[in-house]
Amino acid sequence: MDNFISINPYNGQVVHTFKAISEKELEEKLNLSQTVFQSWKATSLADRTDLLKRVGSLLRDNTLEYAKMITLEMGKPIQESIGEINKCALVCDYYADNAKAFLADEVIPTEAKLSFVKQDPIGTIFAVMPWNFPFWQVFRFLAPTLTAGNNAVLKHASNVFGCAALIESIFLKAGYPIGVFQNLIVHHNQTEKIIAHKTIKAVSLTGSEAAGSAVAAIAGKHIKKSLLELGGSNAFIVWEDADIDQIIQTAVNARMLNNGQSCIAAKRFILLEGIYDEFVDKFKAAVSTLKSGDTMDKNTAIGPLARIDLANQLQEQVQTSINAGAVLILGGQQKDCFHEPTILGNVKPGMPAFDEETFGPLAAMIKAKDIEHAFALSEMSTFGLGITVCTQDIEKALSYAGRVSDGAYFINELVKSDPRLPFGGTKKSGYGRELAKDGILEFVNRKTVYVK
Ligand code: NAP
Repeated sequence: MDNFISINPYNGQVVHTFKAISEKELEEKLNLSQTVFQSWKATSLADRTDLLKRVGSLLRDNTLEYAKMITLEMGKPIQESIGEINKCALVCDYYADNAKAFLADEVIPTEAKLSFVKQDPIGTIFAVMPWNFPFWQVFRFLAPTLTAGNNAVLKHASNVFGCAALIESIFLKAGYPIGVFQNLIVHHNQTEKIIAHKTIKAVSLTGSEAAGSAVAAIAGKHIKKSLLELGGSNAFIVWEDADIDQIIQTAVNARMLNNGQSCIAAKRFILLEGIYDEFVDKFKAAVSTLKSGDTMDKNTAIGPLARIDLANQLQEQVQTSINAGAVLILGGQQKDCFHEPTILGNVKPGMPAFDEETFGPLAAMIKAKDIEHAFALSEMSTFGLGITVCTQDIEKALSYAGRVSDGAYFINELVKSDPRLPFGGTKKSGYGRELAKDGILEFVNRKTVYVK
């Protein structure tokens, strides 16, 4: 039977060891979920939103304790882990306050006496989640999904099983009935068995393209709905009229938050020729001030990458890009899980820093001849999570919104998720939407009711 170890990437110490559950225990958990769904879906929405509010309160009352688990298991600087817990509390408040309106019957006038759409829960949803925002990714799925009256089972990334166990304990402590949300300590090779099980009605995966493709294929085979939130290689386009001093910190945050391990991070800085040098100089100066070090220190901005294989992979992408003609402007060195914040100039299509998702503190600087060329370069990515355009000409920037194929278009702001706004990608970044009203309607049966 598998054992899973979470290792603190800052110091290499073992944080937890978890033993995989047996086949029998897995079967029992899935059967329990099926049974409990019958009573859970019959609870009132008011009861469900009360429970969610209690989860929000627990998050606020124990922020530091929960944040420390994130930092220990995946190396996020503690100040950012605290921010992540606070954001989870916000998403709980948001759905507690808005679920009633989102789930209300939707009357559609026809020749019938009455015709409307009713939003019913569908059963147990299987969540497969990544380690990079080990609380947030789970909460943005759980808050709407459970509140709609569904149950959930989670297979978290195997390096953050401590976070997974803690999340399960928070929902139980808040008073959710046993079985409504269960954490599964299983290897990802159990995915097909779980998706195929009669209890599971749909699957939501946040993770890499490879995992998304594997899980979606299994879900398709069993004719179960899937939602995929996958990788990204967002462009951060800077026009010549942009106020560089004003946007530079936004640009640095867009790339360096979470040690650069964010799906929606700006990974390709596409700069118009006239401001290329100024932007790169100021970006370099700002990145150079970022303090790296002890992840439990509130002043640390840059920590290690979450696992050694991820740091090795980033280093390989840096070296291959340099060999292909990219110019090293800053950093470039790796030691164990630590990778220096790195800037590459003269990045072009055909280099890993342009073509692939780079999951760490690596900023690729790309020169564009004009605005059309900048958008063309942006669109060359196989991913489609979102892009940023920086300019003082808001009207002109807005006129391009319809031409961008990504799931988000931000002007003068880094692409970020917000409980009030739908979030999701296009192309190889996946399909479906989380958050906002869209997120709670992903896993409901929109049932047509008709009275003659
Ligand atoms: P990952 O390796 O794909 O893992 C994500 C989850 O999928 C983990 O629970 C993993 O389990 C599981 N998994 C991996 N291979 C699988 C397979 N063949 N079948 C079934 N499950 C499988 O991704 P990650 O390294 O944790 O996360 C980083 C990736 O997630 C990046 O590409 C990032 O851009 C993306 N991401 C996207 C979003 C978004 O909202 N679009 C948000 C965050 C992250 P194990 O840990 O046991 O392998």
